Amino acid sequence: MKDSILVINCGSSSLKFAILANAGQTTLVEGIADRLGSSESSITFKYQEKKSIVMLDEGNHKNAVTQVKLWLSAHSDIEHSLIGIGHRVVHGGEAFTKSVLINQEVINGITDCSKFAPLHNPAHAKGIEVAFELFPGLPQVAVFDTAFHQTLAPEQFLYPIPMSFYREHHFRKYGFHGTSYRYISQRLAQISLGSDQQGVLVAHLGNGASTCAINHGQSSDTSMGITPLEGLMMGTRSGSLDPSLISFISHAENISADEALDILSKKSGLLGVSEISNDCRTLEEAMASGDQRAKLALDMFAARTAKHLVSVATTLESIDHLVFTGGIGENSSYLRQVICSHLKALNINIDSTLNESAPRGAEYDITANNSNTTVWVIPTNEELMIALDTISLIQH
Ligand code: ADP
Repeated sequence: MKDSILVINCGSSSLKFAILANAGQTTLVEGIADRLGSSESSITFKYQEKKSIVMLDEGNHKNAVTQVKLWLSAHSDIEHSLIGIGHRVVHGGEAFTKSVLINQEVINGITDCSKFAPLHNPAHAKGIEVAFELFPGLPQVAVFDTAFHQTLAPEQFLYPIPMSFYREHHFRKYGFHGTSYRYISQRLAQISLGSDQQGVLVAHLGNGASTCAINHGQSSDTSMGITPLEGLMMGTRSGSLDPSLISFISHAENISADEALDILSKKSGLLGVSEISNDCRTLEEAMASGDQRAKLALDMFAARTAKHLVSVATTLESIDHLVFTGGIGENSSYLRQVICSHLKALNINIDSTLNESAPRGAEYDITANNSNTTVWVIPTNEELMIALDTISLIQH
């Protein structure tokens, strides 16, 4: 059937892709090209439970998309089933409040937002241009991480700095993980009738992590800001802290403010505190064998996540649902338990047996009998949202 969508997610040094069929319900093939820009880049295809790896002579986005095109030429049934391409785009600024069909004006708009996402947006624009070149007949759609949060009220999205910075430079909170939050909101409405009319808190906890409050299906506040550095402690990012630290670190280490910022972005968070790893699984293993630094890092992560859940909850009338998602939210029963232990004052309680037995990759209700809020584990599916947006836009 002719109903497949190629979903492309271009990072600064990677390109993830997937081809989804059957209204996004079936993943035919998926893969990742990584270490782009180095001499050791390769692309992996996962098809029919088997993995194949192709080394890239020249590791760049164009070659990665060319390899996808070549793979498709050898699987012509899938190639002929393609009807469009959906691109994940990190930053849509204030220009993009929803997904859009891509034309030159949209590419220019994505490029204009590069100042806020200098590693990602230029890579997205490149990926889109290459895809137009290699798949000239296919319509393409851009799906923005920031778009879902364009419903925030000014008192939530403005920073308390001189207004001229907002007027002249658009410095404000944008928020990220919007495609994930939109998926969770819609999925929750399907599995828990009426939840789209209620107050929902979501913790998207992966290497990057954020929280979001969803009021009647719309984002009312989120923890990330003008960039994904604000808010929670993350794998390598510090999250929110006293901005004076940038000046202290740069003076103490005799480095520039940008270099200090780089430390907050790449050497902080779980990695910086544990001095072991940014990876939650590795830290849980270290903690299990008695490493106190790993435990401290994980417990700080949990405490700060709870704080940012409460912070965004101030925009809700009631907290009817709390959802954990993302690699950590879906898989770490330890962190879910510690996070919820900080939310007792709000009467949010989980059942420890249900929490520990939550099956991997499934939607699961882990609420305790005495909880005011229903607590869920729901695996996110950003690729599905991108495919559905693409189908919907190309059919109109
Ligand atoms: P991102 O998309 O932001 O790169 P993911 O959502 O893939 O991140 O989440 C990655 C994180 O999820 C890593 O810290 C990883 O250790 C954690 N994770 C994955 N599986 C497990 C697990 N079984 N237990 C604990 N943490 C896990």
